[in-house]
Amino acid sequence: MPSFSRQLVAQINLAALRHNLDCVRQCAQGAQIMAVVKADAYGHGLFRTFPALSEAEGLALMELDAAIALRRQHYTRRLLLLEGFFSEEELREISHHRIAAVVHHPEQVAILERTKLKRSLEVFLKVNTGMNRLGVKPDDVAGLCERLNASPAVAALRLMTHLGQAETRAGAEAPLAIFKEACRGLPYPRSIANSAGVLRFGDVGGDIVRPGLMLYGVSPLPDQTADSLDLRPVMSLRSELIAVQDVAAGQYVGYSDVFRTTHPTRIGVVACGYADGYPVTARNGTPVRVAGKQATLAGRVSMDMITVDITDIPEARVGSPVLLWGDDLPVEEVARWSGSIPYQLLCGVTRRVRFVTTEVGRIDFEL
Ligand SMILES: *Cc1c(COP(=O)(O)O)cnc(C)c1O
Repeated sequence: MPSFSRQLVAQINLAALRHNLDCVRQCAQGAQIMAVVKADAYGHGLFRTFPALSEAEGLALMELDAAIALRRQHYTRRLLLLEGFFSEEELREISHHRIAAVVHHPEQVAILERTKLKRSLEVFLKVNTGMNRLGVKPDDVAGLCERLNASPAVAALRLMTHLGQAETRAGAEAPLAIFKEACRGLPYPRSIANSAGVLRFGDVGGDIVRPGLMLYGVSPLPDQTADSLDLRPVMSLRSELIAVQDVAAGQYVGYSDVFRTTHPTRIGVVACGYADGYPVTARNGTPVRVAGKQATLAGRVSMDMITVDITDIPEARVGSPVLLWGDDLPVEEVARWSGSIPYQLLCGVTRRVRFVTTEVGRIDFEL
């Protein structure tokens, strides 16, 4: 095993991932699950995590190269490209690898119509129901379905939309009504819900759900913690104290005079900074767990280190374990203190951090 002087690790708990997938299964009321693994499985590592998602009916992602790599790893279930294809060449590639595609723009329908394929593919026609990002106009759905149905390139058709406001039932009502109206009389399976949708309205999430965030043990709902939803964090970012300073009252800590002591303060220095993916915008007071107890960020985040107030943790010393987020500290909380969102923090852990894969919180082997 290689030895690293730096003790910073992102621990990926596959048992938690399996558990969260079971939670989706319970909420989704018989729907098929397309587990969303874009952005390298939300920063957890696609090839580290996909074996734990084998119970899902398929995987959904943006990146064609990653989808092809999954096929090469003998992943045989459904793969869905969430932004579809951008050229005839790409379309040929995805049909060759039996990958399904979202079609969200009339131009993609035209590419399907003019490309000769050896193997037809499953197509998810995406409808813009008010998010105004991707999707065809609701009024165009029936006509485009007719064209897609007539195209020899299309093996099966699904209807899909994405909600920009699935956190509240009220926010989802108008788009759901638009989707229902656009799809009226069309006999194709539907795919609507992301994580927030699965949790808020499993009943109308569609025949195929597309959860991402909740699989990784993070709550997508502002008024509910992951714990209250029985979701378990998959990533724990762990480090150690590499120095301790006894600082007198009235002294500054770290760069730019962001933190000044008001009384004699013990400061712990943690090996983790913004070059590792810790948010540079984290404010004084952001929770950090040191030796199993709650400490707080004191001073600006540096490239390689943060400084924390450990005055109330007298047993803390060089080598004490530190948890930046994960098991006992929701990444949601760190994101809130940083003016960010959990998605960005999880995706932002950098290559400098060593990843270890565990089952049930124990370090089993290293990748
Ligand atoms: C990212 C994504 C999802 C998953 O969203 P979560 O909020 O992470 O559950 C679902 N559908 C589409 C189209 C997406 O791009």
